[in-house]
Amino acid sequence: MSRIAFISDIHANIDALEEVLKDIDAQGVNEIFCLGDIVGYGAAPAECLELVKTHCSVTLLGNHDQMVIERGPIIGLPRVADPLIYARKQLSQAQIKWLKKLPLVVERESLMLVHASLHEPENFHYITADDDARLHFEHQKSPFTFIGHTHSPLIAIQDESGVTLETPGVGAFKLDPGLRYIINVGSVGQPRDNYPRACYGILDTERLTFAWKRVPYDIKRAQDRIKEAGLPMQNALRLASGY
Ligand code: ZN
Repeated sequence: MSRIAFISDIHANIDALEEVLKDIDAQGVNEIFCLGDIVGYGAAPAECLELVKTHCSVTLLGNHDQMVIERGPIIGLPRVADPLIYARKQLSQAQIKWLKKLPLVVERESLMLVHASLHEPENFHYITADDDARLHFEHQKSPFTFIGHTHSPLIAIQDESGVTLETPGVGAFKLDPGLRYIINVGSVGQPRDNYPRACYGILDTERLTFAWKRVPYDIKRAQDRIKEAGLPMQNALRLASGY
């Protein structure tokens, strides 16, 4: 294990996922981990699930994946609920069965993986402030946790004086083995940091660096798919603004 690519929050955006996987392929990584939310918002849930299934050695359950596999009606705002109702129709029985087996938390050597937070992982709490990170750190047994869920790259650092949150810039972020980190890898299919390019990250376990990557993709094509599927227009428009 030396270079691991992390993808998260694909949200049925096949155009973004294909470009990200091409980019990852050129980076010489050993493994790809998916931190959840393959489905929701976008128009190609089944296609995205197949790609994740074949390319990722670890895949976690996200809150949108969870809503698809739960029994009973999906209730909520149309921009959230409609694509999930659509996904239930698009996914095969075998794909639903595969989703149902996904774990909420995975531990791999010195890494912990979770979609949202280690504090009540099943409730998918957002980590956007110091207090959210503190609650999470109470459950973190290893130096590093990798998360998604907010669709915005973020790094939370815990040292003796407390917790600091930083928004990463470009380039590789150097990790200090004496500290503890929560690293939000950003979103492949629906970035919300005002930068529309697809986002993913690479951990180098020998150099101890994490680098966020931004990949251009055909946003217009992803928007057209959403329109053709009859899903809410807001979901198409936000792809271009990156929010
Ligand atoms: Zn998400």
